Order: sequence, then structure tokens, then C-alpha cells
Amino acid sequence: MTNTGRPACSICGKPLDPRYRPFCSKRCADLDLHRWLSGSYSIPGDTEEDERSSPDDSEAR
Ligand SMILES: [Zn+2]
Repeated sequence: MTNTGRPACSICGKPLDPRYRPFCSKRCADLDLHRWLSGSYSIPGDTEEDERSSPDDSEAR
């Protein structure tokens, strides 16, 4: 990899757009925000699936 030392988007590594610093585009800014939000809430998927498959269901049979 050739790193010129220039600031790059931390999401996709493209050159930054001053408008969307520190990202290259709104999309990447949104992506980062999403990651940040979902990280502070809870890990999506695992916990919800755990509640869905309740042991009662299998015991009833
Ligand atoms: Zn980007």
C-alpha cells in the first residue's frame, strides 16, 4: 500500500471531501454514524434471535 500521508476517508479510504470531512461523501458519513449508533445501543441480531427461540417452544412438543 502506498500511503501518501494525506487524510483519507476512514470508511472506504478515498480522498476526503471538505464538505463531508472526515469522510469522502455523505454515504460514508452516514455509514460511520450508523456504526457508532448501533455500537452504543446493542449488537444487532444475536440478542433478538435469542429471545425468539424460546425453550418453551421445544419443550411443548
Ligand atoms: Zn468514504
